[in-house]
Amino acid sequence: MASLDNDDTKAAILDCHICIVGAGIGGLMMGILLERADIKYTILEKHPFHNPLGSAICLEPSVQPLFRQLGLMDEIHRLSKPFGAMVFREDNLDIIGIFSAQTPLNINDRYGGYNRIIARRDLCALLAAQIPKEKIKFGKRVLEVRQNAGEVIIRCSDNSVHHADILVGCDGAYSAVRQGLYADLSAKGDLPKQDNAPMGYQYDCLVGVTDPMDPSKNPSLAGKFSEFQTILAKNADCSYWCIPLVGNRISWMVVKFHNKGRKYAEDQLFKHSGWGAEAAELMSYEFREFITTYGCELGELMDNTPKGSMAKVMLEEKFYKTWYKGRVVLTGDAVHKVLPFGGQGANQCIHDVLALTNLLVQLKSNTVPDIEELFESYFKARSPIGRTVVNMSSRVGNLMNRKGMMNDIIRKVALRHMPRWLSQIINDKWSYDRPQLECIPFVQVPGEFQPRPQKRSVYVPASLVEREPTCG
Ligand SMILES: Cc1cc2nc3c(=O)[nH]c(=O)nc-3n(C[C@H](O)[C@H](O)[C@H](O)COP(=O)(O)OP(=O)(O)OC[C@H]3O[C@@H](n4cnc5c(N)ncnc54)[C@H](O)[C@@H]3O)c2cc1C
Repeated sequence: MASLDNDDTKAAILDCHICIVGAGIGGLMMGILLERADIKYTILEKHPFHNPLGSAICLEPSVQPLFRQLGLMDEIHRLSKPFGAMVFREDNLDIIGIFSAQTPLNINDRYGGYNRIIARRDLCALLAAQIPKEKIKFGKRVLEVRQNAGEVIIRCSDNSVHHADILVGCDGAYSAVRQGLYADLSAKGDLPKQDNAPMGYQYDCLVGVTDPMDPSKNPSLAGKFSEFQTILAKNADCSYWCIPLVGNRISWMVVKFHNKGRKYAEDQLFKHSGWGAEAAELMSYEFREFITTYGCELGELMDNTPKGSMAKVMLEEKFYKTWYKGRVVLTGDAVHKVLPFGGQGANQCIHDVLALTNLLVQLKSNTVPDIEELFESYFKARSPIGRTVVNMSSRVGNLMNRKGMMNDIIRKVALRHMPRWLSQIINDKWSYDRPQLECIPFVQVPGEFQPRPQKRSVYVPASLVEREPTCG
């Protein structure tokens, strides 16, 4: 299948240099897309190497055509398992209900692929392998971003200074790029009140991935599908999750919730947050004796998790209204921080950087008005879904974790009595668009439910926008 007027798009690419801050999933995918679009870029990452912390990531059918188009889908299949089901249980392991990928709706037949469950570190390693080594600079913690009419100037903690035409903040929930941008806007009184408000958080989370376990003890480990086990430990105000991965490994996660949402100012949150290994050990003692469906307690999974790779993190949620200013733009968790329960964090950051790249290949001039016009098109395309996923992940979090009779009833009805038509409406909504990179040839999208034809991403250059005459 051909790309959208491929040659026109290529011809329009400007000679500009893009600096990406953050080599997480969004930053790495942005690098791959710019590489394919032949746009110059550098990635600055604060860690001295790829951060191996984290647990599992779910890649849904809406991003899979892009992986196929980039030639990465075979590797994704090798490194991941198809999502089979999520089994909800009481803490005595009695089943509350099952959310299945096969019934009432077969996800594979309808959308041409199951959700793929992959260890975060495996996904990051695969993405990083596509990027020339000299284009990712490790150990570069961005501290300060300044911009003027001609460029962006970025200063890092090692005192190195970098210059770029455009800066893309892919630096996650505590984005330094966002904080710098917002400080400037706030000083001028241009920052919406909501963006100044502290991030709320209701959950602490402990995660890890075991070394390979013995499948003879639990044959479900070696099964084709990844069957999630989600156990609600009501007396301990938490839920815990076990997710089989490729290689007989188990990704596990404990989510502890606070009944009253906590709010910290951003600088306080920053001190407590991050995917850190230090506080994890301490938190783990609380949950070691929880029983699992693998014939062992959670403590055994923790003991099989390589030392130092367990991580504790606070799960925050927030949608930000301001996504760009001048030559600086934000993506992913930096503007829509979701809870992990809806499985949307990685998928939505990939959609963000894809939408942005599809516009960047059309940039008509390296001037601030043109760049801002392009960023406005990106914002209009991506912010409605960004807001939706933040709200949705919060609701799904409540459904999956909260105590109380009402929540019990909703859980049972949703898990046991979901009709096919309703499941189809919900899933179709997430699969209407399965976009691809517009400057290279498209691939065929499998599945009986085909996406809407991809409309070419367009932005109207500032020079062509009719403006109201200004006074004075
Ligand atoms: C270590 C880690 C583990 C995670 N594990 C899971 C998981 O198990 N399950 C899940 O659903 N989600 C996990 N997430 C979150 C998930 O990856 C994101 O929600 C989603 O992929 C959106 O990604 P992002 O690229 O916007 O931000 P992130 O994935 O958070 O990436 C941000 C990147 O920016 C870097 N960075 C931050 N500040 C600076 C700075 N000042 N200068 C330079 N670089 C900077 C970070 O080190 C990181 O590499 C994890 C995130 C991280 C960082």
